[in-house]
Amino acid sequence: MGKIRLLTDEVASQVAAGEVVERPASVVKELVENSIDAGARRITVEFARGGGQLIRVTDDGAGMDREDAILCLERHATSKIRSAEDLSVVATMGFRGEALPSIASVSRFILATRSRDGETGTEIKIAGGKIESVSDCGVAPGTSIEVNSLFFNVPARKKFLRGEETEAAHIIYQMQSLAIAHPEVTMTLLREGRSIWKAGGTSDHGVRVVDLFGADYMRRLMVLEASEENGIKLEGYLSKPGEGRPDRDQQFVVLNRRVVQCPAVFRALREAYGDALPRGRQPLGVLRVSMDPLAFDCNVHPAKREVRLHRPELLKQAVYLAVRRMLESLNSSTRSAATETRVESPRLELSSIAATSHSSRSFARPPQMELPVPDLIIPDTPEERFQIIGPLGAHWIILEGKDGLVLLDVRAASERILFENLRREAASGNASSQNLLLPSLIDLAPKDAVWISENLEALRSTGFHLEPFGGDSFKVEAVPACLASSDVRNALLDVCLSLRSTGLMGSSQPVMDALIRSVSRFASSNGFQYGEQRARHLVNELLKCELPYACPQGRPTLIQWSFSELERKFGR
Ligand code: ADP
Ligand code: MG
Repeated sequence: MGKIRLLTDEVASQVAAGEVVERPASVVKELVENSIDAGARRITVEFARGGGQLIRVTDDGAGMDREDAILCLERHATSKIRSAEDLSVVATMGFRGEALPSIASVSRFILATRSRDGETGTEIKIAGGKIESVSDCGVAPGTSIEVNSLFFNVPARKKFLRGEETEAAHIIYQMQSLAIAHPEVTMTLLREGRSIWKAGGTSDHGVRVVDLFGADYMRRLMVLEASEENGIKLEGYLSKPGEGRPDRDQQFVVLNRRVVQCPAVFRALREAYGDALPRGRQPLGVLRVSMDPLAFDCNVHPAKREVRLHRPELLKQAVYLAVRRMLESLNSSTRSAATETRVESPRLELSSIAATSHSSRSFARPPQMELPVPDLIIPDTPEERFQIIGPLGAHWIILEGKDGLVLLDVRAASERILFENLRREAASGNASSQNLLLPSLIDLAPKDAVWISENLEALRSTGFHLEPFGGDSFKVEAVPACLASSDVRNALLDVCLSLRSTGLMGSSQPVMDALIRSVSRFASSNGFQYGEQRARHLVNELLKCELPYACPQGRPTLIQWSFSELERKFGR
């Protein structure tokens, strides 16, 4: 009999739940975002015992009739998009249609809902993904979802929940983020039946900041006046000089109504403060960014926490300049001339490489800002493509493109190519692996061994064939074809580290991606002997990639200096 089996819907939902539902706070996020999408003006969130025992989210939104209430529990059921094209302009918080079935598959779940014109409400009870009852119920228009005993049927995940205090802290932080991003909605948070905070709906963002964090916090901030540049609108409240924290816990970046993790913005913010903050301190506050939804992709993280910007350098620059302007406005009224000169001394080397129409002379470009990822569009037709000029140092290849000079980073490019190949192979279930001449026995530290034994299946689908060999030892029989057989031990340690950093178990996509990322990083670290043929192969393979512009870690693979930039630099 063959080995391949289709997963039952129940198991498939539990696997998907691994991506969407990391912990109680993720349940809160998904449910509250659904309420927001349903047009709720009031949302009440209650939780008990860190959310592991109970999470209840009640809203006064559109509610659902019976048919929709049943349908919304199906996988990929969503009222928010109809086609893949809708994804690029999605204005709702949700769109994947996986949250409710995923949550219902790992909890005892009660949905009570009534549409605004519905005569009665519907109550649906589900345990571990199985519908137990559907009945009439008397409820106010809107929706209430109760999630009891989260992960009761998935002990492996339950084991990974932290203590109640930690999980509660995550929920509170999550609610702060949601409240910051949606000041117009009245939100109430209750813990073990007692109100922790309540923030009335307001159109004034500043009021919401005070409601959430208090007047003392607000006194440490100054206004970032609304500005718009390159279609990027910015506004907010940010640290006064000298007011910072060692972490980013009180720094919120809201991009089109979502609090996001966006390293480009984090860096630009910190760099803009320069020595207006002591070393190691991060600015506080809320930065609101609005931009065309076509300018970024929010479908890159299962919980939509991360976004991929198509032109990160534009946003970085806009943030940097706006914050400099804010700080300088203060400088001109209160600071000595000496400080001003320091603020103004620009790093010319960098700014001249990327001279752009709006870089005004009074603003320095951030000192450690990487070279900007250029406006580089890879042509579709092969005969326009790059001409190889030769190697540059140990790491780069010089290319001539239609629009100018292009440098290719060998390692970043190799990582991208390996990553996409391995990912494709793993998805089709046939990762190429090479058998070791002699199986290799590897002893691991206990904490690493746990990760390896929990992820044997995921490892197998990327080409590692290994089995437990008693205690914390493993017998390795084959490794991914791209790895040198002598590297087995170090490659595995690298993999452990990446797996641990995801905090996730099982073959969910984030786990697979972390694994594949670490294999491709490891395999690309071996150095590159330049040769015309090899260089050509590398370029061709890179251009075949879906995302050729950056390595899986986000570093650029190609940077370009356009002919017009070169002409400008040479004063032609
Ligand atoms: P998504 O949000 O990606 O569409 P979900 O699984 O979170 O997927 O929700 C599925 C559908 O259920 C939503 O598209 C929406 O139509 C409906 N729904 C979920 N929560 C609510 C709610 N609180 N009020 C009204 N409708 C809801
Ligand atoms: Mg949703």
